[in-house]
Parts: sequence; structure tokens; C-alpha cells
Amino acid sequence: MAKVYNFSAGPAMLPHEVLAEAQSELLDWHGSGMSVMEMSHRGKDFMEIIHDAEHDLRTLLRIPANYKVLFLQGGASQQFSMVPLNLATESGSIDVVNTGHWSRLAIKEARRYTRVNVVASSEATQFDHVPAADTWQRDPDAAYLHYTSNETIGGLQFPDVPESAVPLVCDMSSDFLSKEVDIGRFGLIYAGAQKNIGPSGLVLVIVREDLLGRAQAATPTMLNYQVHADSDSMYNTPSTWPIYIAGLVFKWIERQGGVKGIEARNSEKAGLLYHAIDSSDGFYTTHIQAPYRSRMNVVFRLGDTSLEDAFLMEAARNGLVQLKGHRSVGGIRASIYNAMPIEGVKSLVNFMMDFARQHG
Ligand code: PMP
Repeated sequence: MAKVYNFSAGPAMLPHEVLAEAQSELLDWHGSGMSVMEMSHRGKDFMEIIHDAEHDLRTLLRIPANYKVLFLQGGASQQFSMVPLNLATESGSIDVVNTGHWSRLAIKEARRYTRVNVVASSEATQFDHVPAADTWQRDPDAAYLHYTSNETIGGLQFPDVPESAVPLVCDMSSDFLSKEVDIGRFGLIYAGAQKNIGPSGLVLVIVREDLLGRAQAATPTMLNYQVHADSDSMYNTPSTWPIYIAGLVFKWIERQGGVKGIEARNSEKAGLLYHAIDSSDGFYTTHIQAPYRSRMNVVFRLGDTSLEDAFLMEAARNGLVQLKGHRSVGGIRASIYNAMPIEGVKSLVNFMMDFARQHG
């Protein structure tokens, strides 16, 4: 098999061990004589798979008993409408922090269902920081406060969970399970699977029970959290294969020392890359202010942007692939989610130093 390190922002690389395990069970799951893909979602075997996945996730994140875990479809993008439909009213409003591309999409969609108050934005400075919380223009009557903990495209991450008097809602798609969080501080968290959880086709929602049962009257049945909560994510056929892989990923995280162990590794990985950028004498640059640099998506440019195509081509020749920045911002983006081994990051750093030596 070709040895590559895959820096894709998502769908992203999965732990090799997980893929090998899935391969070994692909045709016959635990002596059932069938693949997980072929099982009834209501059968005993799949019930065990989804039950274990939820149990392991609850253990990893110490999810309190008064929170529901939902395994849904439609990606994180569908949550942009589900959250306001379920938690906001047409006559009321919500508070939102605008830190980039994904916050903007969440804002745009929420405006269809409620009034949106943007409490702060760093758009004027190209989203180079998270606005200080004491400057936010909050509304004490907001139904909730929404933020995007990690802007996957911009490479901007909240260093801490913000304080909030109203329920806190977080799009945690690209840093879910990458560091410890106190779930009890949130009203609702959602995360698309294809970064730190498993294959695309699954979105996880963790919601405090008292926020259920308030959906706007026109909410489609399939977009109503209460419906999914009441049926343990089995109102209709869930995404069985991604749920199975997610379960294997949760067990893999346990073996890495849990979220705490993963967090320490992630911090080391990001540290290596930002150090390489900062010590390159401007050969590599990032405009994100240091405290807000993402540990998941390291977004940078070459001082001489005309060298970026050559950088990407030579990197790929060295087995370092999917490093191209998002089409809306260009440049380079190294996504280093949980599954990226430290060796992959070291290999990228070595390549960056060699490339700078040759072209500097
Ligand atoms: N929010 C964030 C932070 C994301 O990174 C993404 C996808 N990259 C989305 C939302 C949208 O996710 P999906 O494609 O699953 O709808």
C-alpha cells in the first residue's frame, strides 16, 4: 500500500487500526455471518453496536445523564436549520458569534427561522482572532448563544468555552473529541462525523433534555430532536455503517489514553507545525493571532505565494497529500485531527524545512 500522510480537512484520515479492524470484520461481524452493512438496524446485533458506541462516547466525554446523544444524518449543515427550528422561536432571537465561514453559514440559515443577533465578529480583520468575550453585545433574552469552536477553513479556534447565561450551542464539528470539554456547560453540541468521529453520513448531537419538546410548529418530523430522542435515534433507519465505525473510533480513543491523552498529542502536533512556521523567517506565514490558532487545521501561506503550487506538488511527491487550502481562501491547510500520527506531522515539518532551504 502506498505510504501517504493524508492532511484532508474532511472526510479525513481514520486511525489505521480502526480501518484494519473494520476490514477484518467486513464480511462477518462477530460470527453473525453478515456484514454490519447488511444488518437490520433493529436487530440484536446492531442494537449492541449503537448501544456500545453511545456508552463509550458517554464515558469518553463524561456526558451527564440529563443529556441525550443522537445519531443523525444530514451532516452538520442540517444542524444549521435544526437548531433554530427546535430551540428558537419566530418572534424571539438568538445570539451568534461570527468567526468565519461556518459561523456565517449557520447565521444565514438561522435567519430563516428566527432573528439573529451577531454579538461579535472578527470579519473586519479576516477572522484573525476570536473577539474578546467582554466586548460581545449580548441579549439576555436570546434563546441561545451559538458559536463554532473551530473554523475548519479559516484555522481559527476558541481557546476556551465561553461563559453564557443562556443555553450555549456549539458547532464542534472539527474539534470534537480533540480536547477535554465540560459537557455540562452546553445546551447542545453538534458535530459532523467526517473529521474526528468516522465516515461522513453521520452527525452527532448532544442535547440537554430540558431543551427538547420546544420545536416550532412547522418543524418537519425528521428535523425534530424530540422525535429522535424518543426513539433512541431509530425513528427511521440510521446510518448504520458510520455508527459502527464511530464505535471503533471511540474504543481507539480509549486506547490512546482517552480524550486527555489525545489532547496532549494534538497539542504537541500543532506546536511542531506552528513552530516550523514561526521560525521560518517569513518563508511561511499565518495571519491568525497566536492564542486562536487552530490545533486541528493549521492554515498558512508561503511568503512568496507563487511557490504554493510547487509546494503542494513536491509535498504530494513526498507522500504528504491533501494539503491544499480551501478554495475560498487558497494557501495551505494541514488538517491534523486525532488520527494523524505525530510521525506525519514530523514528516511535514521536515519537508517544509527542506523546501524552504531549496527555495528560500
Ligand atoms: N461546520 C464545520 C465547522 C465544518 O467544518 C463543516 C464541514 N467541513 C460543516 C459545519 C458542514 O458539515 P457537513 O458537510 O457535514 O454538512
